Amino acid sequence: MSTLFVSDLHLCPERPAVTALFQRFLTDTASSASALYILGDLFEYWAGDDDLDDPHHAAVAAALAKTADTGTAIYLLHGNRDFLLGAGFARASRVNLLGDPTPIDLYRTPTLLSHGDTLCSDDRDYLALREKIRTPAWIAAFLAQPLAQRKAQIEQMRRHSEQEKQRKEYALMDANPEAVTTALRNHQCRRLIHGHTHRPARHFHDVDGQSCERWVLPAWEEDGGYLHCDAGGCNAVRIAG
Ligand code: MN
Repeated sequence: MSTLFVSDLHLCPERPAVTALFQRFLTDTASSASALYILGDLFEYWAGDDDLDDPHHAAVAAALAKTADTGTAIYLLHGNRDFLLGAGFARASRVNLLGDPTPIDLYRTPTLLSHGDTLCSDDRDYLALREKIRTPAWIAAFLAQPLAQRKAQIEQMRRHSEQEKQRKEYALMDANPEAVTTALRNHQCRRLIHGHTHRPARHFHDVDGQSCERWVLPAWEEDGGYLHCDAGGCNAVRIAG
């Protein structure tokens, strides 16, 4: 019995080696786990479920569905880049969509799952943008545009965000300790697992006199990585590309 966590794979047709590494992980590792949680940014971006016609996206969905067929329950929580993954994708890939954050009972340790972008509370500009583009009205208007137009608009937003990142300080784009403490306290959890910052680590936080742990998942680049949890606890595992 084990439960695995990944995030920030940023899969896209331009990085076929990372997609191959993830497919290998699904077959060799995830298929024998009881559950796999994908904590956001599975894809570099997602323009809408009608983009499942793209052969790369269809291959990823099929690989996930095949893993679900082996008996592994797969859960997916949205990242900032793929928050438009919807019911069509969930059906095709046989994943269960979760809200952010989601508390779970992980082998008797109450554990909070999040992508992690909302924990970066010092980045006010980003949070303001996030609030704007996550409203049902914005999403409906965006999805009403033709696919090509949506992709062009996402490309523009990505370029803007890259420029912003270079301007912003390193510390500004990390999880804020207060936001971490508040999230753990509000959900009465002793452990937090998230990605987004691409700064893999295990941190400890004191919340009202209780020691809590926070695992930050790695981004997949040349190498991949996941968090392996069972009744004995969690440990980070690297996968060589
Ligand atoms: Mn992210």
